[in-house]
Amino acid sequence: MKTTLRPSNRRNEPLGELALIDLIRRQTAYKTNQQNTDKKCLAVRLGIGDDCAILSPPRGHEVLITTDFSLETRHFRRDLHPPESIGHRCLARGLSDLAAMGAKPLAAFLSLALPSSVAADRLWLTRFVARFNALATIHNVPLAGGDTAESPSNLILADICLVGSAPRGKALRRSTAHAGDDLYITGALGGAAAELLALQARPASLRNAQPDGDHRGPQRDGSLGWGHPHLYPQPRLAIGQALLRRNLASACIDVSDGLSTDLAHLCTESNLRAEIDATSLPLHPRCASLPAKDRLKTALHGGEDYELLFTAAPSKKVPSRIANVAITKIGTMHRPSRTHTTITLITPSGSRSALQPAGWEHFRTR
Ligand code: ADP
Ligand code: MG
Repeated sequence: MKTTLRPSNRRNEPLGELALIDLIRRQTAYKTNQQNTDKKCLAVRLGIGDDCAILSPPRGHEVLITTDFSLETRHFRRDLHPPESIGHRCLARGLSDLAAMGAKPLAAFLSLALPSSVAADRLWLTRFVARFNALATIHNVPLAGGDTAESPSNLILADICLVGSAPRGKALRRSTAHAGDDLYITGALGGAAAELLALQARPASLRNAQPDGDHRGPQRDGSLGWGHPHLYPQPRLAIGQALLRRNLASACIDVSDGLSTDLAHLCTESNLRAEIDATSLPLHPRCASLPAKDRLKTALHGGEDYELLFTAAPSKKVPSRIANVAITKIGTMHRPSRTHTTITLITPSGSRSALQPAGWEHFRTR
């Protein structure tokens, strides 16, 4: 127990630490229990309430763990992002890392540092937790613990830890691509960066954005179809698990920092280089709102798409859709050579040029 947030008995005073944990526990408990009975998700033996959670991974599986910070002004802005989006994105980032390795989520842990003004704002907290829990329920991942403290600054810090499992020795990795493999991307690129620009330019236009993932065609909530890739990214868990189960992918990474940057990570870890074909890149419909000269750049370097970038041997029959999401071949993997840079871009005119990793870092405040 830590003495952090002050006790409170009035509505607009900060909730005490115990009351805050209780709010989170009550909002997430029912659905977690329901999941446990309905879907026999029995990995969490003991959840919130004791000094540790107790998990028991499925037999024959090994445990995968990932953590991600969501820092106010660095990853989100309270004046731009609704609490639902902050809660959703916080969990989605961790889930996307599990997706990249083909893992199934077992449990989530959420550590929060909150300014006292936020601890006093029950509506903000409830909206944050409700959407966090909605995404957790979709992916059958119980919130099994965390930590809660008063932030010494006026900034929110949310740290998500995801525990998942994969059959022993089978988790997908960045380091296992082979020369000659084809390179694929799920979904579409550039949508998150394009939506972030729209959010910064006209916050009101996205005020009613809804989290639904895969609508097609313009929606009344301001989406252009294909959901809201920045506000409510959809982690590709079903695809990662299918790639692992069907033994399709030789290597995989999620695109969190931008295609150019994450492809460079995959190349470095696999000791290979890549060639990608600009005309094959699947641009998100939101990119149409950008000036024509910026569309390709945004697809190459815009971050936070949370799609999966994977390689597969040419002998594999990779379907054009998995879990109702398009799969597009965008390039090929090659042995490294002195005369080539890590990534070569074949431009729409057919010429070849070196592509430097230039992932976009969001919310630069300096
Ligand atoms: P300790 O002091 O022993 O670390 P805490 O008082 O911090 O325990 O937490 C009590 C219980 O509440 C633990 O089970 C912990 O995992 C859980 N918990 C604390 N903060 C959160 C949070 N933000 N989200 C979910 N569970 C939390
Ligand atoms: Mg303890």
